[in-house]
Amino acid sequence: MGKQVRKAKVLSTEQITPHLQRIVVGSDDFSDLTPAHIGSYVKVLIPQNGQVDFNLKTACMRSYTIQNVDPASGALTLDFVINMHNGPATLWASTAQVGDDVGIAGPGPKKLDNYQHSHYVLLGDLTSVNAIKGYMQQLPQSAKIDAFVHVPTKQDIIELHTQRIANWLVTDTPDTDMLSALNNLPQTNEAPIVFMALEAGLVRKAKTLLTQEYNIPRSNIVSSGYWKKGVDSEGYKKERQQSPELA
Ligand SMILES: Cc1cc2nc3c(=O)[nH]c(=O)nc-3n(C[C@H](O)[C@H](O)[C@H](O)COP(=O)(O)OP(=O)(O)OC[C@H]3O[C@@H](n4cnc5c(N)ncnc54)[C@H](O)[C@@H]3O)c2cc1C
Repeated sequence: MGKQVRKAKVLSTEQITPHLQRIVVGSDDFSDLTPAHIGSYVKVLIPQNGQVDFNLKTACMRSYTIQNVDPASGALTLDFVINMHNGPATLWASTAQVGDDVGIAGPGPKKLDNYQHSHYVLLGDLTSVNAIKGYMQQLPQSAKIDAFVHVPTKQDIIELHTQRIANWLVTDTPDTDMLSALNNLPQTNEAPIVFMALEAGLVRKAKTLLTQEYNIPRSNIVSSGYWKKGVDSEGYKKERQQSPELA
């Protein structure tokens, strides 16, 4: 994650599904951002009472994935989960107005770095759907991809702008349904590379299933708890610092 903090403004905001608010942010400082950054993440410095704290040590920051980059201006499109929980980022996203100030740090690197494999399994939810979209667009055409994304309603299924097909699990019991979906994974000669970005508890369960039942080596699994039930982002960060195996 680059240390540079960029001052940006909200260019547009639109509720695109019952649980996603799409916000485009722009800045004169975004000229180095290109569509290659789609799927990478940035830290959004969330305004408090309309004021942005641009100090990385004290700001209220949350991670968001780049859904799109305007090739001409570098303006970033970010999709915020809304109407699922209360927290500074989701509350800001629900009420942000065109012209509001916001801070952006990053982008940080993508989590998957091996683009040479023959088979990938991608597991996500609404917080990571754009990371999955990025991989579906950027992994070589020759690679086989099995992608599973759980969403709370059918209306939350979004366009991924790829010829490839994702398996959408519309469910209010994501843990059960995501683990069941993995039971239908086609067997291949070579163990797949797995990318999963989900709620922390589900990441742990899916990792156990894939390593113990399907003998997928741990080294093939790139996993990240994008959020944790009952714990805010700062609390979850502290937990991971104290117990790095949770990361
Ligand atoms: C690399 C990375 C990329 C991410 N990209 C995105 C993205 O593109 N879009 C996106 O919406 N999120 C994304 N996230 C997740 C997002 O950073 C967290 O959900 C964050 O906690 C939201 O902050 P908040 O202020 O709304 O809630 P917090 O103050 O962090 O949490 C408040 C409460 O809400 C709960 N909570 C947090 N997130 C959710 C959720 N999604 N559903 C249900 N309950 C929740 C927490 O458990 C806590 O109890 C990403 C995370 C990472 C690590």
